[in-house]
Amino acid sequence: MREPIKSQRHKSQLLAIAVFAALALPLALALSACGTSDSSNEPTATDQIKIVAAFYPLQYAAEAVGSTYVSVTNLTSPGVEPHDLELSPAQITEIADADLVLYLKGFQPSVDEAVAQQAADHAIDVSAGIDRLTMNPDAAELAGELDPHIWLDPANITKIANSISDHLGRINTSAAPTFTANTKTLAAEMADLRGEFTSGLANCASRTLVASHDAFAYLAKAFGLTQVGISGLSPEAEPSPARLAEVADLVTTEGITTIYYETLVSPKVAETLASETGTTATVLDPLEGLAPGSIESYPDVMRSNLAALIAGQRCE
Ligand SMILES: [Zn+2]
Repeated sequence: MREPIKSQRHKSQLLAIAVFAALALPLALALSACGTSDSSNEPTATDQIKIVAAFYPLQYAAEAVGSTYVSVTNLTSPGVEPHDLELSPAQITEIADADLVLYLKGFQPSVDEAVAQQAADHAIDVSAGIDRLTMNPDAAELAGELDPHIWLDPANITKIANSISDHLGRINTSAAPTFTANTKTLAAEMADLRGEFTSGLANCASRTLVASHDAFAYLAKAFGLTQVGISGLSPEAEPSPARLAEVADLVTTEGITTIYYETLVSPKVAETLASETGTTATVLDPLEGLAPGSIESYPDVMRSNLAALIAGQRCE
């Protein structure tokens, strides 16, 4: 009894294979015809390189370098303050599954931890090879620690883009010339932006930049300003009354007219200091993220920052 059943099953399997082949061959031809008739070389969603960027400026650099060859996810949603980012389980899976993770070691502890556990073999610390400043010892509870805010000097965006381009070129070798060309375009744009800052901030009544959050050391160093932070590294830290009094003294002594605060956290500290010293509080964006719904990009926000600085530092 067993033999006939087995052979029957064998026959039906053969038939199924034959039917499948009859259907599949024309389908395969149709698909390949479809492929050859498509003249564009645009990569499809499935062969795009999956990049996870820890926060906005890294997303900006990755999209500029990778163009249509990459799909970029930003771990820090618009409007979220990135220093103390908490990752969801879904985001940790995204980090594990990505082709490439871009992060800045020491900036977001939750991302550092997820990268160490899930992505050690496919992550780039974008600060590698960039000269790092230490936090201002006057204000920071983290005095002496490395300052993470490297992206506020456009020259460092170029360095980050070069590093991204090298890695992408190894993942998709045939697109490497495109990544190199895109990086050159970005580098030229960053050089232009830097030139605008250099000339815009050449002649200013004040070279002391008082900001609620100690985020602008790289920008200050690049353009010959001196940053005085009120709260220190974390934008949500409360300054001590002694620190507030000290900065208020400096503001009065140096005739400073503008105190800068940032977009993603409360302006309370800057407003308190401004009202105590009779100065103006105004926005200077540390570009740790975009505002919700914003359609601006890194150069747009940097140009708004330059306009704020030219007015606030009274530059000619
Ligand atoms: Zn910051």
